[in-house]
Amino acid sequence: MNKLWTDFANSLWHDWRGDGHTEDRLLMTKWQAAFLETWKLQAPLPIPAGEIAGLQQFRESLRGFAIQLSMDTAITQEMVDAINEKLGLSPATRQLKQDDDAVQMVWLPQEHTWRSVMAEVAASFAQSLAAGLGSRIRICENNNCKWVFLDDTRNRSKRFCDDKMCGNLMKVRRFRERKKSDST
Ligand SMILES: [Zn+2]
Repeated sequence: MNKLWTDFANSLWHDWRGDGHTEDRLLMTKWQAAFLETWKLQAPLPIPAGEIAGLQQFRESLRGFAIQLSMDTAITQEMVDAINEKLGLSPATRQLKQDDDAVQMVWLPQEHTWRSVMAEVAASFAQSLAAGLGSRIRICENNNCKWVFLDDTRNRSKRFCDDKMCGNLMKVRRFRERKKSDST
């Protein structure tokens, strides 16, 4: 299950095949544009140079919270304070929105900046926690991957971001290790 906040957290991409290579997609204008488009947000492109560090720091905090929650840690006051601080960055107004046959309540940011994007990301994380999804936060068990996701399976058994990719890779690795220990 993909959320605005997991998408943001995963902008620090790790090569899941395992050569330790990382790519900070937050620095790529193409990724920034696709991210805004996907989540129907507006902000200047590319991200102004002076705002990159703040966004990277917030992403680090979010990834840290996700790791803590994935280990069954309770929500801490530190998380609550950090999220509230970001929520306070941008005022928003409520609006009732109707598309097709669904009606939903949305928050409209009053400014179109990366500060308000950060507030929206914080709101998305806050909504996941408020909806009781904190215990479904996972970090892909492929240590090279570290992808953040929400486990939406009924029996809460999802261990990898993608069973066909990381799941298979780990299966092959375990198989090779078994073979190696059998032959010694
Ligand atoms: Zn993975």
